[in-house]
Amino acid sequence: MSIPIPSRQLFIDGEWREPIKKNRIPIINPSTEEIIGDIPNATAEDVEIAVSAARRALKRNKGRDWAATSGAHRAKYLRAIAAKITERKDHFVKLETIDSGKPMDEAVLDIDDVASCFEYFAGQAEALDAKQKYPVALPMDRFKCHVLREPIGVVGLITPWNYPLLMATWKIAPALAAGCTAVLKPSELASVTCLEFGEVCNEVGLPPGVLNILTGLGPDVGAPLVSHPDVDKIAFTGSSATGSKIMASAAQLVRPVTLELGGKSPIIVFDDVNLDTAAEWTIFGCFWTNGQICSATSRLLVHESIAAEFIDKLVKWSEKIKISDPFEEGCRLGPVISKGQYDKIMKYISNAKSEGATILYGGSRPEHLKKGYYIQPTIITDISTSMQIWREEVFGPVLCVKTFSSEDEAIDLANDTEYGLAAAVFSKDLERCDRISKALEVGAVWVNCSQPCFTQAPWGGTKRSGFGRELGEWGIENYLNIKQVTRDISTDEPWGWYKSP
Ligand code: NAD
Repeated sequence: MSIPIPSRQLFIDGEWREPIKKNRIPIINPSTEEIIGDIPNATAEDVEIAVSAARRALKRNKGRDWAATSGAHRAKYLRAIAAKITERKDHFVKLETIDSGKPMDEAVLDIDDVASCFEYFAGQAEALDAKQKYPVALPMDRFKCHVLREPIGVVGLITPWNYPLLMATWKIAPALAAGCTAVLKPSELASVTCLEFGEVCNEVGLPPGVLNILTGLGPDVGAPLVSHPDVDKIAFTGSSATGSKIMASAAQLVRPVTLELGGKSPIIVFDDVNLDTAAEWTIFGCFWTNGQICSATSRLLVHESIAAEFIDKLVKWSEKIKISDPFEEGCRLGPVISKGQYDKIMKYISNAKSEGATILYGGSRPEHLKKGYYIQPTIITDISTSMQIWREEVFGPVLCVKTFSSEDEAIDLANDTEYGLAAAVFSKDLERCDRISKALEVGAVWVNCSQPCFTQAPWGGTKRSGFGRELGEWGIENYLNIKQVTRDISTDEPWGWYKSP
């Protein structure tokens, strides 16, 4: 399908502005490998202008600054954004599909989630008003204390390409709800819907500078944003390698960061489950979003007594997956994002072969698709825990399978990773599921399912998957400073520490 891609500039201070260096980056349709447009490549000079705009919007005029508005006031804008996204859903869905390569049915869910996330954080903004002047009980009657929750200030938001507008929304919505102003830097591999979001900001009359959007390469835009002294916080979603660099840079300025990073999540299947249901969830948990999900449950641990039958079912489910242009009806697996990502995934698969693993299913380009970055859903067996394919995040449609014989062994194998984002467990024994949920060193556990993610529930990782929680009532806290105000309520009574003069 051919979709006209709007040609946009950088979105700064409510206006579309050409980048100072006038450079642009091509947009490549991952399904056809054709150039379908371009985006601006901002640089440090543009970061400077955008951060100043965000700072002015935060404290523009006394009494009229974004930071000083009530939560109820900000909620009106967030609700208007949600309504506008819903009104223009079809446009956003098509742009997200062509730019990211995800099946259009998934893009529909993403854009619905974008609207509901803005709606949810409108409610959080309103709730914030009621939480102000929160009283704190003190052990001395002479003093009274209350707590204020105040916006952190200007925040830098850096996001990846797998859920382009949704990952940006997980940050923009709570940041704006909290009263922060922001500079968003989406991924250079899929920026179209994030740029288009600038148009929505203007349509709902968001004050200029409250949100600024700079597209471009990580080192050109992301790095100067992270090291800018007038940015008060960085919220980052992306790879652990980049997250580590961002944390090092932020440390120079002693600046807070939240990091939502990579994963290599386990899925544990016991022998008491309905094999068909568990097999479908296993396939979904790894091959959804073309396998490019931070929380992909890509390490399957299956009880040895059902392993052969279960693997057989996985293959049967995989054979049914429709691999096609993401716009085709019924598509369930589109192309991966780029040539670079395609080559990286193929290298992981060939390394697995040379390390002695068996490619049981898939492992190559689907025969019927000659163009585009398509990779078959791939199932790998005969794996040892030292293999690269078992230990590293592939970020593609690749499922690794190992067996276990006892609950303890399953937990040990599941936790034997440097990552700690998510995990899934399948069993009819819910007490066992509870025990395992507690034992898993991760930020999210799915029981008898994999991947459902709700705006109301906290999201984030442990270990090398990062720290901080997005979404839910925890999401807004990322963008708030806590300030205590303590007052001596005894009028004119001397403190009495020194002798009177
Ligand atoms: P990436 O780390 O390559 O890039 C992420 C963003 O950082 C991009 O906008 C990029 O331009 C920018 N960037 C790159 N170098 C930078 C630098 N030096 N300074 C500042 N910014 C820089 O990640 P990606 O390939 O876009 O995304 C895939 C990764 O994201 C995977 O590891 C995946 O697990 C992770 N991810 C995590 C979550 C989560 O919630 N934990 C969600 C989605 C994706």
